[in-house]
Amino acid sequence: MRSITTLELQYAHRFYGFKGEAQYLHGHTGTLTIEVNDSVNMGVNMVFPCNEIKKTAWEVMKNFDHALVLREDDPLLPAILDVYEKQGIKDGAPTNQMKGPAFKTELATAYPECRLVVTKETMTVEGMIKIVYDLLKDKLNIAKLTFTSGDNAASEEFETNNHIDRCPLCGIALDENGVCPKCGYKK
Ligand SMILES: [Zn+2]
Ligand SMILES: [Zn+2]
Repeated sequence: MRSITTLELQYAHRFYGFKGEAQYLHGHTGTLTIEVNDSVNMGVNMVFPCNEIKKTAWEVMKNFDHALVLREDDPLLPAILDVYEKQGIKDGAPTNQMKGPAFKTELATAYPECRLVVTKETMTVEGMIKIVYDLLKDKLNIAKLTFTSGDNAASEEFETNNHIDRCPLCGIALDENGVCPKCGYKK
């Protein structure tokens, strides 16, 4: 069966080199839907608690929220970093607190200090699904990802079979010692 959760991201981007309006910098509220597949954990009668899926995903995905997403060859990138540098916010600001851990994958690199994500490919809704799967595939048994942004939407199904031991009392993933980090249950 599947447990399904949704999270929202507000971001700015553009399609560098694209011939439509999207070549200009603009913003969206994007909605990411994550479907996780596994057996039903009979202790709690759920696949996985949806708030826990959200928490796991948000840890990395918050780097995309209130962020600028630019392709690595976009000339706006050095221009914006130059402005941030001169303004003294390139390496962080006291009010910039919603930061996830910096990440670097084949497809994207996050710079949480200046709320920037640099991508290898143009960040279309399809591109976002590739990036998100790469970031979360080892943490969750992702069966399907859907990303919508404005009039655009894309989805892809996956077969992800991580063996995740779940707590029979509260449903969350047990740690490497078989202990529930939330309620202390031991396998
Ligand atoms: Zn757009
Ligand atoms: Zn527990």
